[in-house]
Amino acid sequence: KKWVYLFREGNAQMKSLLGGKGANLAEMTKIGLPVPPGFTISTEACTAFYENNHTLPEELFNQVRTAFTELEATTGKVFGQKEQPLLVSVRSGSVHSMPGMMDTILNLGLNDETVEGLAKLTGNQRFAYDCYRRFIQMFGNVVMGVDHYHFEHLIEKQKGLRSVLLDTDLTTEDWKQVIHKFKECIYMYTKESFPQDPQEQIKKAIVAVFKSWNNQRAQIYRRIHQIPDHLGTAVNVQIMVFGNMGNDSGTGVAFTRNPSTGQKELYGEFLINAQGEDVVAGVRTPEPIIKLKEQMPKIYESFCEIAQKLEAHYSDMQDIEFTIERGKLYILQTRAGKRTAQAAITIACNMVEEGLIDKHDALLRVAPEQLDQMLHPCLDKDAKLDVIAKGLPASPGAASGRIVFEADEAEYLTKQGYKVILVRPETTPEDIHGILAAQGVLTSRGGMTSHAAVVARGMGKACICGCEQIKIDLRKKEMAIGSLTLNEGDFITIDGSTGHVILGEVPLIEPTLSEEFKQLLAWADEVRHLHVRANADNPVDAKKARELGAEGIGLCRTEHMFMEQSRVPIVQQMILAETLEEREEALKKLLPMQKEDFYGIFQAMDGLPVNIRLLDPPLHEFLPNTEELAVEIAKLQCDESMDRMELNKKETLLRKVRNLQEFNPMLGHRGCRLGLIYPEIYAMQIEAIFLAAAQCQTEGIRVIPEIMIPLVGHVNELKTMRELVNEVATKVQTQTGETIPYTVGTMIEVPRAAITAREIAAEADFFSFGTNDLTQTTFGFSRDDAEGKFLHTYVENKILPENPFITLDIEGVGSLVRLGIHEGRSRKPNLKTGICGEHGGEKRSIQFCHDVGLDYVSCSPYRVPLARLSAAQAAL
Ligand code: PEP
Ligand code: MG
Repeated sequence: KKWVYLFREGNAQMKSLLGGKGANLAEMTKIGLPVPPGFTISTEACTAFYENNHTLPEELFNQVRTAFTELEATTGKVFGQKEQPLLVSVRSGSVHSMPGMMDTILNLGLNDETVEGLAKLTGNQRFAYDCYRRFIQMFGNVVMGVDHYHFEHLIEKQKGLRSVLLDTDLTTEDWKQVIHKFKECIYMYTKESFPQDPQEQIKKAIVAVFKSWNNQRAQIYRRIHQIPDHLGTAVNVQIMVFGNMGNDSGTGVAFTRNPSTGQKELYGEFLINAQGEDVVAGVRTPEPIIKLKEQMPKIYESFCEIAQKLEAHYSDMQDIEFTIERGKLYILQTRAGKRTAQAAITIACNMVEEGLIDKHDALLRVAPEQLDQMLHPCLDKDAKLDVIAKGLPASPGAASGRIVFEADEAEYLTKQGYKVILVRPETTPEDIHGILAAQGVLTSRGGMTSHAAVVARGMGKACICGCEQIKIDLRKKEMAIGSLTLNEGDFITIDGSTGHVILGEVPLIEPTLSEEFKQLLAWADEVRHLHVRANADNPVDAKKARELGAEGIGLCRTEHMFMEQSRVPIVQQMILAETLEEREEALKKLLPMQKEDFYGIFQAMDGLPVNIRLLDPPLHEFLPNTEELAVEIAKLQCDESMDRMELNKKETLLRKVRNLQEFNPMLGHRGCRLGLIYPEIYAMQIEAIFLAAAQCQTEGIRVIPEIMIPLVGHVNELKTMRELVNEVATKVQTQTGETIPYTVGTMIEVPRAAITAREIAAEADFFSFGTNDLTQTTFGFSRDDAEGKFLHTYVENKILPENPFITLDIEGVGSLVRLGIHEGRSRKPNLKTGICGEHGGEKRSIQFCHDVGLDYVSCSPYRVPLARLSAAQAAL
């Protein structure tokens, strides 16, 4: 089997085999760009490695050796040879780019002998030993597992010894001493010597890169970005070129367009006399790329040319890594650049205008889940801002929170319900869980292309980098800006669009939607088949939903209207009533309130359908807490001057509440079961709906009410409730003289309803799949308990591929949805079908909804844009 591919043997289409980096290196080689030669070990080798108990396929090394022979023939250098040593970099590269999450080793092939060869070859002793110590440092860390800071500490010590401040002040002799200490340090921590044999080095490096596929940060990254675990990584072995050979050398990263705003401009950074890792690791703050124009005009010009060529070749914004070795430019990597939602949208729209892509391509260029970022709050322009520092605006959006200095702490405090801003000198990929937890990230070092920035942009978190005015003391957990000192726990606000760091909390406001955002969604509307509605139960949400493009309300949960503080006592009176008269008295008070509610929503949705679900709460949710009541009673009983009447009242209340308590409220007296036992409650709601509708109609507002009966399992439940709706509707229509075009339907949210959908359809004008309950009842997982108790472990241990309350379980719950649609339509071909569970706002579930031919999805207002785009992508 072929495991190893020379760059000249591959191309951009071979991503799944060669990984993104390998495929693009091959493609760039093919189109004649200056790429140092090399080869890629396929992702299949990685899979084989994991399948074979962490051993590499046997043939692999022969193939690696053959590949080396070709590299040696091209360069005239020999791997492991003293006089003309060939050095390589060994880098990971999976199908989906995972910036910085896996491992890289540079300068491989150096040892005590070849380092001398390198020195002679380059005429630069100091350079050679600097490379060697970097190699030992990386190899020691990545392959041998010695913590980074041990090495940093030894370098610091050497600097202290020589009373110098910068690495660049250390001499050849210093590096020789450091190398000696590095080797001792490795031996001390691993009881193994640093390997001198380059063949052993390469073997171990390949294994280490394969293993890094499964390191913790890579796993977390994959989970966040929903990248499957089985894909594995490729390994790229490439001839080293050196950006650290003096002032005519350097290294950098650039995007062909601004990844933060999408503006068409070369956007990047470089460092003179440095190796690539120095830029992306954010250890030194690099210079903006435009300065390269002054310092090396020729190189800048040819880089611009290449950048343009690559962008046109891939017809997408590229993120390009380059190195300049003694005045010669090399391209080390290109990939589709990670970008914020704003940039993604702007770039997609601009590229359509430029004729680089068409509208359909544009729709596929924006990740629906990213759109959410566009709706994030931003700083109130009228707020007074106490700007205390300014850094690089690395990822837009505003965020306020308490300062924390450690990723673990950020995660912990967020779990406790605090909002935090993660402040670090620089972030490394190990901080990814902290970045995920925090509202935003602020670093004092590192550039716009540092990992912190790239990762934050990918997640849509506000981020400011390289804010050098800030001096952070991690040990004291404080940061200083001039004379101002802030401690852990103090509030700051960051504005990732301007780079401003602001003291205290700043009010945030709703953002305005850009024209491009609207343009892209308009294109989405042209191609999608699914309609998109919103779940909303008040006029404000309804308006918002409409603004964001909702074509109606797919679920109005009326129980939310009962939860308003001032209504709770009346609702309690309704629930606790022991006679019909008592209950009707309470309902009479609720009627005008409910009518107002519906009036507001109809008004907001003028001309669009409004699906109103009749009451579906576990009743106990509205009742006082029994424990608190019992305590109050006990207190009263001990009180000598107690009021007997009061005590009696409370005791009766406690008894009634206890009577209503259920062991399994989620499977209890809710949904249509409530309407069947207390029809007067539903009757009041229906009356309110029709009164409101009639009033709207007389005022010229167009109403299209859809009345929905929840939790139906048997057709007779629906039949009885439908009769009630018709009865009350007729009464109100006669009374008001207004004819309302209404429909009656049901939710499908228990398996029996899906299975008997044919019978149920006889009584329904529409079905709305309530996949929250349908997931609960299909799995038999309590919605309220499963996630906290066992579901996260299920997902972590891959017992379930995903949390089924978030992404629809297509095989199980999905089969019931499919069955329900099929059976329902077999009885009533024009049955309208939709989904209103949380899944209606989730990308992959929406794809499923499209595939099974639902008419619409309904989701929370802020997810409407996501649903519009997802529905379009599903149709493409
Ligand atoms: C559902 O069960 O999916 C649903 C939308 O109803 P609720 O979440 O209100 O139970
Ligand atoms: Mg439900």
